[in-house]
Amino acid sequence: MGGYINTKEPEKAVLVGVANEEQSLLQVKDYLEELAFLVETAGAIPSRTFIQRLKSPDSRTYIGSGKLQEIHQYIQEHPMDIIVFDDELSPSQIRNIEQELGIRAIDRTNLILDIFAGRAKTAYAKTQVELAQYEYLLPRLAGMWTHLERQRGGIGLRGPGETEIETDRRIIRTKIALLKDLLEKIDKQMITQRKNRGKLVRVALVGYTNVGKSTLMNLLSKSDVFAENKLFATLDATVRKVVVGNLPFLLSDTVGFIRKLPHHLVESFKSTLDEVREADLLIHVVDISHPGFEEQISVVNQTLQDIGAADKQVMVVFNKVDAYTYVKKDEDDLTPKIKENLTLDELQNSWMAKSNAPSIFISALRKQNIDELRTMIYDKVREIHITRYPYDHFLY
Ligand code: GDP
Ligand code: MG
Repeated sequence: MGGYINTKEPEKAVLVGVANEEQSLLQVKDYLEELAFLVETAGAIPSRTFIQRLKSPDSRTYIGSGKLQEIHQYIQEHPMDIIVFDDELSPSQIRNIEQELGIRAIDRTNLILDIFAGRAKTAYAKTQVELAQYEYLLPRLAGMWTHLERQRGGIGLRGPGETEIETDRRIIRTKIALLKDLLEKIDKQMITQRKNRGKLVRVALVGYTNVGKSTLMNLLSKSDVFAENKLFATLDATVRKVVVGNLPFLLSDTVGFIRKLPHHLVESFKSTLDEVREADLLIHVVDISHPGFEEQISVVNQTLQDIGAADKQVMVVFNKVDAYTYVKKDEDDLTPKIKENLTLDELQNSWMAKSNAPSIFISALRKQNIDELRTMIYDKVREIHITRYPYDHFLY
């Protein structure tokens, strides 16, 4: 189970997004860019995108029949292998679309699961992905039959479904129970492991995917006076002992969050997220150069709330200041400034004013403002340490 090596030509994908009446075109374009990035990550080529404005999705084919016709026409002239939707579709919608277009249809959840399956390296991560895949598959079995037969190559649910026997609902339920048991056992081992870490303040890097968490992790854990490159958990989240000044603490790099992550998927990754849940301090990394960074912040905050980590102390690190682009407005343009029309300084001031969490603007790549960040982390970690271990002052 798990990833396989695709030796064939990369598949060509049509991407489809549906916008409701409140969403701006810019926003939807942004969403589809992200979807294209996901498709690429999964190893396929995003070749063409279609957007439809709809009050609510069509119950039979998700998009309207006219739009479906248009896509059909298009793929007649430009052969495509898959059609990828930016939302979770019902099994019957997938079936109907596949019937009409004659190519495989994949929804966002399936795509994300596929990427996770390809990325999972440790047994633990693989088990979590497998569980998520089976939970996705269970309500879709009936519709999956033909789907699975055709999906030997290419992206989309390459985990379960490689053997016919597993398409039986009862077997899948048993499998889910077994996987949950297994995860519980590993969890117990990990709890013991974590207890053995001693009296160290725990800091977790959180944030949207691709904002620079790992880059920052490497930067912080490799440098300064002394840093120990020690892996505490060999499984999912990478945990390292970091020393800033004279103060040791644990820093973990966790899986990134993403928009529209279905709830059951988050549930399957509960154990990975323990690192976040048990942290004393969260460093929320934001990609300031991304046009949708504010929405990404809300997605992360919502996910933190979903996993029960909303009450944590948070420090916000606005990363990638080097890539921030400022679009100067014409003097006679009287429309209100949008955030692209703010200079970095203006943006910084407006954030500092409205956010109550301490924040800092940096570039992890160009190593800008890193000393200031270290000082900020030092102060906070020290404060937490003293509160937690009031008699432990010999350390300082
Ligand atoms: P993660 O998914 O949050 O762990 O993000 P990564 O650390 O893997 O970084 C994602 C991408 O952003 C990589 O290509 C990094 O090189 C890039 N990146 C990270 N920090 C910066 C930065 O400060 N400026 C710029 N321009 N790119 C950065
Ligand atoms: Mg990373």
